[in-house]
Amino acid sequence: MDTLIYLDNAATTKVKGEVLEAMLPYFTENYGNPSAIYTFAGQGKKAVDLARKQAAELIGAKPEEIYFTAGGSESDNWALKAAAEAYKEKGKHIITSKIEHHAILHTCGYLEKQGFEITYLNVDSQGKVSLEELREAIRPDTILISVMMANNEIGTLQDVAEIGKIAREAGVLFHTDAVQACGHIPVDVEEMNVDMLSASGHKFYGPKGVGVLYIKKGVKIRSFIHGGAQERNRRAGTLNVPGIVGFGKAAELAGESMVRDMEKVTALREHLIQRVLSEIPYSRLNGHKTDRLPGNASFCFRFIEGESMLILLDQLGVCASSGSACTSGALDPSHVLLALGLPHEIAHGSLRLTLSEDTKMEEIDFVVDELKKIIGRLRDMSPLYEDFVKKAGRPNFCDRLEEYYVQ
Ligand SMILES: *Cc1c(COP(=O)(O)O)cnc(C)c1O
Repeated sequence: MDTLIYLDNAATTKVKGEVLEAMLPYFTENYGNPSAIYTFAGQGKKAVDLARKQAAELIGAKPEEIYFTAGGSESDNWALKAAAEAYKEKGKHIITSKIEHHAILHTCGYLEKQGFEITYLNVDSQGKVSLEELREAIRPDTILISVMMANNEIGTLQDVAEIGKIAREAGVLFHTDAVQACGHIPVDVEEMNVDMLSASGHKFYGPKGVGVLYIKKGVKIRSFIHGGAQERNRRAGTLNVPGIVGFGKAAELAGESMVRDMEKVTALREHLIQRVLSEIPYSRLNGHKTDRLPGNASFCFRFIEGESMLILLDQLGVCASSGSACTSGALDPSHVLLALGLPHEIAHGSLRLTLSEDTKMEEIDFVVDELKKIIGRLRDMSPLYEDFVKKAGRPNFCDRLEEYYVQ
């Protein structure tokens, strides 16, 4: 196989043909500024209205509760910073989890410097926040709870409806980062009791650089980008009409095919997980067994460096990701994997494969076949593995492992 095998759909997805087609006229023919009065601008304005409806429908919101932003990171920043600002008279305590995306965690870090106090909830070994711990963390000065709907690294889904209920009963605002969930699994802001929700177009076959912040009617929140009166005075800046149109179209298509896609992608994922766990010794699945995103498979392999796997997979045209982030030359294991309670050396051997609705069974089988060889080769070179095998007195798996060595 010398074609590209793209298994990094949690990082970004390919724009669908229909999405691109819907966007194109708004770059060239209908380029008018939708805020303008003249008739020529009307097409753009109409297209934005339609996209707002499409986005609202995907998450069970009203169109006037949809605010277009420049992506998931902006939506997260806006929700947290503006709510903190708006409610700081009531209190300065915010609750989030240890496994949030950096768009949330680094914003929380910033707010800590501004005098806010943040509680970072633990997660269990499968990545779930404890509702009990959440209840206990709420104080009279708690103004906001932000817990993600689906984790981008390990795929675990949180019980957001329950979290929302707890927040509502306590009179605390609830925001959820649903960037990984939107367009892939059902999202309903009413059922989930959320006050604010972040979504991003490029995570579900839409364009990059466009997102949504849902703000429930009646929620007091400040403007984040100051300037013109766009987005009902709450988010200034000339609208990214082609991007917004793309977001809307992607939302519409996701709504239409969601049930079918979930079933198909989940079956592929299960095949992948089954093969890896049964054919590769000392492997583990990260995240929840069943409460997980359809397309997410996250593993750790003992005695392996995630980066080495990625480089060898890349040589075969396979795009994958590991949990480790490379910062200033030092390899830090992922904060998410550490929060699961994994020791550093195991967290280092992580591999995330994220599927799309275009992923083929043959691609999965090819990747597992190659992965077996790669892991065998890397373990063969690992002094740690050699030590382990010596100490363990060459248990049975070693014989099986021989098969994976390539000449
Ligand atoms: C990708 C992602 C973001 C950031 O979205 P951008 O549109 O890339 O800014 C935020 N949260 C989660 C969970 C994500 O997966």
